[in-house]
Amino acid sequence: MNDAVRAAEDLLRAACGDRLRASFPMAPLTTFRIGGPAALYLEVESEADLVAASEAVRRTGVSVFVIGKGSNVLVSDRGFPGVVLRLGRAYRWAARDGERLTAGGSMPLPALSGVALAHDLAGLEFGVAIPGSFGGAVRMNAGAHGREVADVVESVDVFELGRGAPRRIPAREVGFRYRHTELPGDAVIVGAVVRLRADRRAAIRARMDEARAWRRRTQPLAEPNCGSVFKNPEGDHAARLIEAVGGKGMSVGGVAVSTKHANFIVTSEGARAADVVRLIRTIQDLVARRFDVHLEPEVHLVGDFDLVPR
Ligand SMILES: Cc1cc2nc3c(=O)[nH]c(=O)nc-3n(C[C@H](O)[C@H](O)[C@H](O)COP(=O)(O)OP(=O)(O)OC[C@H]3O[C@@H](n4cnc5c(N)ncnc54)[C@H](O)[C@@H]3O)c2cc1C
Repeated sequence: MNDAVRAAEDLLRAACGDRLRASFPMAPLTTFRIGGPAALYLEVESEADLVAASEAVRRTGVSVFVIGKGSNVLVSDRGFPGVVLRLGRAYRWAARDGERLTAGGSMPLPALSGVALAHDLAGLEFGVAIPGSFGGAVRMNAGAHGREVADVVESVDVFELGRGAPRRIPAREVGFRYRHTELPGDAVIVGAVVRLRADRRAAIRARMDEARAWRRRTQPLAEPNCGSVFKNPEGDHAARLIEAVGGKGMSVGGVAVSTKHANFIVTSEGARAADVVRLIRTIQDLVARRFDVHLEPEVHLVGDFDLVPR
């Protein structure tokens, strides 16, 4: 534990008591189910917690990582040497106002799609089987079936740790791009507003059923994974390129390219994050050599890695 972490622990302990956890295992917080511990971990239940976290960051310089449902992260085997924040149950809510839904950052995206269905509102069908939180989906501009979060978001509510204050950011200032936003790095997404449209419930449900069935057909849902490992290069599919270089089934340690979907890496007992990174790098090299295309990881790497993917 470094000095900044020790000082941050004292400040956060004074504000949050036993809810602050030290050396907290992160593997169970991720869908990959691998990675080491967070030096400090806090489940955020109120703005007072965010104010305390902000104080700790500003006074000690400790590094911070916000985790959602951990479905797009790879945590280093050494863990994260700072504070990991996760929005708790207080941020799991949704409210309807006409064709708008407002929801908290820890609301699971599939649950929010379900709320939309219950109110006969269309526009969130694409999210019904994306296993992230609403906050994580906004940060990633998650999408599927030709639709994405950017299509429906009107505004995003953040708490900026650097300033120690909340702010509402209109969608046009979020900088949505393919699986990317330009939100400030210190912004905790505490909620957002989406604008949907009225439709027949049966039609919405049919689109959701189709989205779920497509996933079951095409993705290795029974094995731990992080969804698509690489972003699709413009006009192509990462899975096609990986398959073409013989990547399907390739493995390092307890980590393998799925035989069902070449852009998925699956882990098994004893898998290590370092092996995932080695496999990522091997695939990038093979695809670059054969197609002169750089595959950019979609998965976010958390903590220190000796091997950084190109
Ligand atoms: C089986 C499977 C299928 C998937 N299919 C899809 C798909 O079809 N389309 C798609 O786009 N993605 C897909 N994903 C990836 C993933 O579900 C999405 O990227 C999702 O939006 C990530 O949300 P999360 O809450 O899990 O975020 P995390 O993985 O926890 O975090 C991802 C990033 O968002 C940041 N973040 C998370 N929450 C917050 C917050 N409240 N405030 C600020 N920053 C935050 C984190 O710091 C991190 O940088 C899939 C993943 C799996 C495992």
